[in-house]
Amino acid sequence: MTAPIASGNLFILAAPSGAGKSSLIRALLERHSNDSMQVSVSCTTRAPRPGEVDGVHYHFLSEAEFKAKIENNEFYEWAHVFGNYYGTSRVYIEQTLAQGIDVFLDIDWQGARQVREANPQTQSIFIVPPSLEALEQRLRARGQDSEEVIASRMAKAQAEMSHYHEFNYLLVNDKFEQTLAQLEHIVFAQRLKVGLQQVRHAAKIKDLLANDG
Ligand code: GDP
Ligand code: ADP
Ligand code: 5GP
Repeated sequence: MTAPIASGNLFILAAPSGAGKSSLIRALLERHSNDSMQVSVSCTTRAPRPGEVDGVHYHFLSEAEFKAKIENNEFYEWAHVFGNYYGTSRVYIEQTLAQGIDVFLDIDWQGARQVREANPQTQSIFIVPPSLEALEQRLRARGQDSEEVIASRMAKAQAEMSHYHEFNYLLVNDKFEQTLAQLEHIVFAQRLKVGLQQVRHAAKIKDLLANDG
């Protein structure tokens, strides 16, 4: 008999732009490629950066297409960030969690609030850089944004970080490997929570508690 499928866990990663969210999620998924975890590919009206592929990094939409999806209630959450719209597909989230797969959302604090409301079991993680200087260096080193965009993201970094206390976990992304290990601890501890384990091991628990007398 196969064990009943426990619902997947929903994890939010939020951070000021350049703190390392995308790199951390990518590394986590590479390391656990057979391990039932996926990252949600958001829809956005932002223009693709060099090297970004439609359907892989984002689903790139026009503003009219995005607004039609809002009207049709197709987003699990959506928000206006840095002058562009970003949103998470409702169908994707619901279907993937139902298959027992953990889903990671790389979303801003406004989206995080909506997701917590829709799904109170969500574990949310806030990532900060070791310093503002390091954040600026990382945005430059990434080599993907113009000076103007970098200046605007730096200007908004403190406003984003001021929401850190709304999250369950706070990680300081100084040494990448150390932060990645901390993220792994959060994910694997969540999978051992009683509510999930009692579904996965229902038959075993029934046997353990059976009255044999
Ligand atoms: P990054 O900050 O360098 O990763 O730049 P991005 O353009 O990839 O993301 C811009 C902002 O939009 C970040 O704060 C993301 O977390 C946020 N974001 C991305 N996708 C979504 C989404 O589906 N929903 C919401 N609410 N925010 C998103
Ligand atoms: P975000 O998705 O939060 O905007 P990225 O994952 O794109 O951030 O990271 C921004 C840049 O910083 C990338 O060039 C990445 O390689 C680098 N980076 C990420 N984490 C660290 C770290 N702990 N130390 C040094 N550089 C880092
Ligand atoms: P970027 O344009 O640099 O890829 O992302 C800018 C910001 O938008 C990041 O802080 C990112 O987390 C946020 N973002 C990306 N996708 C989503 C999404 O689907 N929903 C929300 N709310 N924010 C998102």
